[in-house]
Amino acid sequence: MQYRTFGSLDFKPSALGFGAMRLPVLAGADGKPDFKRIDYPQATAMLRRAIDRGVNYVDTAWMYHEETCEGWLAEALKDGYREKVKVATKMPVWDVKKPGDFERILATQLERLQTDCIEFYLLHSLDAAHWECVVEQGQLEAAEKALADGRIAHLGFSYHGTHDLFEDILAATDLWEFCQIQLNYMDEDYSAGRRGLELAAGQDLGVIVMEPIRGGMLARNLPPAVEALWAEARVRRTPAEWALQWVWSIPEVSFVLSGMSTMRHVEEDLEYAERSRPGLLAAEELALVARVRDLYRELGPIPCTACRYCMPCPQGVAIPSVLELYNDAHMYGDASRQRFYYTWLDEAERADKCTACGECESKCPQGIAVSGWMEKAQAFLAG
Ligand code: SF4
Ligand code: SF4
Repeated sequence: MQYRTFGSLDFKPSALGFGAMRLPVLAGADGKPDFKRIDYPQATAMLRRAIDRGVNYVDTAWMYHEETCEGWLAEALKDGYREKVKVATKMPVWDVKKPGDFERILATQLERLQTDCIEFYLLHSLDAAHWECVVEQGQLEAAEKALADGRIAHLGFSYHGTHDLFEDILAATDLWEFCQIQLNYMDEDYSAGRRGLELAAGQDLGVIVMEPIRGGMLARNLPPAVEALWAEARVRRTPAEWALQWVWSIPEVSFVLSGMSTMRHVEEDLEYAERSRPGLLAAEELALVARVRDLYRELGPIPCTACRYCMPCPQGVAIPSVLELYNDAHMYGDASRQRFYYTWLDEAERADKCTACGECESKCPQGIAVSGWMEKAQAFLAG
């Protein structure tokens, strides 16, 4: 296993971290996967295999597998495995609604994890709304108390908001020692982005990267033109490995979290991590990745750059998000976009609320006929 640095901390994390958000599960009474019924033997075997091969960081969260994941992790780390890894879990900041909620949730997590101290503790999924919950409910003060009395050892946050807010959150406290951001070769400018990575690393924070393969989208259902581009590479790699090596090549990245679902997935990721190095991809390989990125973008029918000049829509439509989901479905051939339409967007933000007023179209620097696309998006994504 390759080991890297983690900000200013005296901890050398494995290049690959074990993400426990997509564990194998058993079927429920209706025969469909039941996400709160983790398949203990299989999931435990996967985690232990990863640890045996040198993985030393496991990431869970209060909400994973409908609040059953932390309990599974405590059991899976028995038989001498607990001492070999650092455990990370997260506070669901949106569930902290009154004084005492933070303490109560943290106490339950310590109990579920069967520990007195959580090594890495994150405020989960910060964006504008969740950051407001943190500030309003004094969650930084509560976390500082937990740090002081040793219930948590290091504080960080996972992030899904805009780049500007990321900068504000970094500057809001000196308690942060690490953060977790989404980064992959399609999303260099999305959310915190590459700039956010460099900013946080420059402040000596450890930076964990999630979604390196964009939820698997960069590894499956490849358009033939993308496959043909990858075939030009002198060093042959799977599309998943290209995506991972692109992230690992960036020196400021501390390590990559992969949400593993099968033993095969574990074995493949371990193999890729073993080959990883900062700066591994040569200039010509980075240029090839850039060509793949450009090609994917060309496959998206709507030239939306997510600049948000069109916002707010008077009807509340989340214009860039709707357009992104529509584009993703076409670029990656990903039918799950339709599911995301319902889980990511509130009813009030969906395309069917568009009244074709045209206000957004006059503001769009790309000249996008938004209202027409809203009609198509509603028919396709809600279908
Ligand atoms: S055209 Fe539709 S999406 Fe655009 S501002 Fe008007 S209601 Fe909103
Ligand atoms: S203004 Fe145009 S390009 Fe920018 S987010 Fe809105 S639709 Fe997309």
